[in-house]
Amino acid sequence: MIFRDIISKKIFEQSGYIAPEQKGAIKMDANENPFSLQEPLKKRLLEEMGKVNLNRYPEAGALELRNRFARYYGVKKDMVMLGNGSDELIQMLCLTLKGKVSGVLVPTPTFVMYRIIAVNTGNKVLEVRLDENFDLDIEAMLTKIRATFPSLIFLSCPNSPTGNLFSRDKIEAIIKKTSGVVVIDEAYADFSGETLLPLLKKYDNLVFLKTLSKLGLASMRLGFLIGPRDIIAQLDKVRLPYNVNCLSQIAANFFLDNHDEFSRQVLQIVKNRGELYLRLKEIAGIKPYPSSANFIFFSCAFDADRIYNKLAADGIIIKNFNTKLTRNCMRVTVGNSKENKAFLKSLKSAVSELGA
Ligand SMILES: *Cc1c(COP(=O)(O)O)cnc(C)c1O
Repeated sequence: MIFRDIISKKIFEQSGYIAPEQKGAIKMDANENPFSLQEPLKKRLLEEMGKVNLNRYPEAGALELRNRFARYYGVKKDMVMLGNGSDELIQMLCLTLKGKVSGVLVPTPTFVMYRIIAVNTGNKVLEVRLDENFDLDIEAMLTKIRATFPSLIFLSCPNSPTGNLFSRDKIEAIIKKTSGVVVIDEAYADFSGETLLPLLKKYDNLVFLKTLSKLGLASMRLGFLIGPRDIIAQLDKVRLPYNVNCLSQIAANFFLDNHDEFSRQVLQIVKNRGELYLRLKEIAGIKPYPSSANFIFFSCAFDADRIYNKLAADGIIIKNFNTKLTRNCMRVTVGNSKENKAFLKSLKSAVSELGA
């Protein structure tokens, strides 16, 4: 195949991001919000969408919407940029900040898209393992920073898949010691009740990522980058025009208009997380880790692949992390009570079958 001779080896050798599709399955693998919107609210959204001029491009700068979100996040005007999901913003960061050394530093395990996007944009990926508590190994991180001058450092806070927050003093030490830009990805911050956004007043090499995907609007692909204006001005040169379509822009306004409803759902998910954690702890051979997000990371005393397959056979899809770094570990998204019950039932039966 001639294509094989043209394409970069780094891209050719990848397997690609695989999102499993199983009709009718209970999806507990992608950290979506399990609740749907009440019918009157949904109807209102669809009515707004019905007014769209299909023949026209969406509002290019989406200035008003950006300023609305700036107010929502408590930052100054022009400090917010919209993306087609925060994945697109990660891609823009990797393209724009591809410095002379082109290094992207990430702790592991973390959100896999940092690595995939960094590689696909021609960056070199530098990895440092988290410590035994899944916190940042600050000495190893600083050593790597001194040796390689990465242009970008991604810190998911809370971290996926482990669910914990990193120590704030370690994060600040990294921000102070790097000459590159630190990205704090707060995709799950709403479930932790904490944000590091106020650090924007203290440092100028810091940006934040937020998304509506984990809050109930995954279908609409809406992500936000919050940071200093001069960084955003550079990113804006790389952004494709009209990157956020009309329907997504309407959904973003809808989110702000109905913020109370989305907040209620977050509270319910946090409550369900507490119960799910306790139930998991009761199962012999299963060790759940405390979570500040809308999912729970757990290890099991058996072959995780077999557990995963048994759950899948029962129509329950979770995320399998059974690799060398996270042997026999899995991640389950907190569902509604019916989903959590079905998951626990299936897990218990799998565990007893495998001879706990
Ligand atoms: C889900 C997720 C994202 C991607 O969100 P989208 O807005 O759907 O692209 C980014 N970062 C982390 C850590 C995530 O878990």
